[in-house]
Amino acid sequence: MPFREAVLRDRFTNDRNVRRCRKRGDRSFRSRRMGKRGNTLNIVTAERVEQKLGTYLNETFRHLHRNPELSGNEFATQAFLKRELDRLGIPYKEMAGTGLCAELAGSRPGRTILLRADIDALPIGEATDLAYASVNDGAMHACGHDAHTTAVLGTAAMLLARRDEWGGTVKLMFQPSEEKHPGGAKPMIDEGLLADPPVDAAIGIHTNPYLAPGTFGLKDGSILANADRFYIHLIGRGGHAAAPHEGADAIAMAGQLIVSMQNLVARQVSPFDNAVVTIGEIRGGYAPNTLADRVYLAGTVRTMNADTQTMIETKIGKLLQGVADLWGGTFTYDYVRGYPITWNDKAMTDLVRQAAEQCLGKESVIELPHGYMSADDFAYIARAVPSVFIEWGTGEWSEEARKTAVPWHNPKFKVNPDALKYGVAVVTQSILNYLQGGE
Ligand SMILES: [Zn+2]
Ligand SMILES: [Zn+2]
Repeated sequence: MPFREAVLRDRFTNDRNVRRCRKRGDRSFRSRRMGKRGNTLNIVTAERVEQKLGTYLNETFRHLHRNPELSGNEFATQAFLKRELDRLGIPYKEMAGTGLCAELAGSRPGRTILLRADIDALPIGEATDLAYASVNDGAMHACGHDAHTTAVLGTAAMLLARRDEWGGTVKLMFQPSEEKHPGGAKPMIDEGLLADPPVDAAIGIHTNPYLAPGTFGLKDGSILANADRFYIHLIGRGGHAAAPHEGADAIAMAGQLIVSMQNLVARQVSPFDNAVVTIGEIRGGYAPNTLADRVYLAGTVRTMNADTQTMIETKIGKLLQGVADLWGGTFTYDYVRGYPITWNDKAMTDLVRQAAEQCLGKESVIELPHGYMSADDFAYIARAVPSVFIEWGTGEWSEEARKTAVPWHNPKFKVNPDALKYGVAVVTQSILNYLQGGE
């Protein structure tokens, strides 16, 4: 969808729009300011977030970006979060080692909503030119979890300031180890994250360098994929390269296997379904004049539905059996299921659509035609309670620059700090709408 920054920027000055409407006695002014039950609602504009928290968001984000920690080792990050929560007066408990769950109580009883940030970084040496680049060698926030953490803290501050407007509880989940399977979300759930008070719904956010600040990519249903891994050893019999018929060439076996595995996606998966099989690692052989007795292959399978996942897992096994039988070799095959599909509940996705429209206008909602084949352990939360995972626009302002944006997990990955206030505005508004919406 073409997107004009000038229009967008103008739309962000919502307060100015409101003033204009008021002058004209425009009806839309009243409807935009009314909550679900007709109660007056102060829309959380990006401008208001900027006024209240602009400096805080920027400083927090830069601090976290400068000090990344690897999955499971988020000790300084956890200590930093504790200080921030203490300062805000929000009680919390430690979970899953370096994780935290904080609880924000409203002014009256009501429902409970969970807001999740993952806090870990990746084992990547940062190669950006940022003044606040990582000071920890070999660690980098290259997935934007620093921005997620900042946005959740900012949202907490906004909700706190408006405590008298909402009832119920907001659980703030600061989760370790998203980048490292089996992840930090599951242990937190096992330790009681979703109980006492029971969580009714959840929101997760993720940076997206392909979307402009002030836009939010939304999709009902599957938004992220099943992400599995496989590890294969093909075992043949070594010998002289000039007499292949006397051995069992593991490289020839591998060649046939690789082509057939790609054909699984091309010929066995419906054109209306999505699947990826990638072999990312292959090792085998010794010298130009020898037959390889072993080849090792490893890779990933990404799918959007459980039947396709099981089909691919099973058929790789059958292909292996066929290739081994034909060539007189053997094999080992490990298929490890990773994070499952992340599923967006329709009502929760509508909640964010409505909030984004209230805060930033209709153009801020980007309806995604399809999900992403990446995965996230927010999936375990989304399996347990109605949830929404938001693709949060954190790219450059220029459309040209966004087209060639540096992807996640790249040493030059960047989050545009301009996006912070929009993320805070829309998530805060979503939670306000939810917790004002009744018991
Ligand atoms: Zn990542
Ligand atoms: Zn991530």
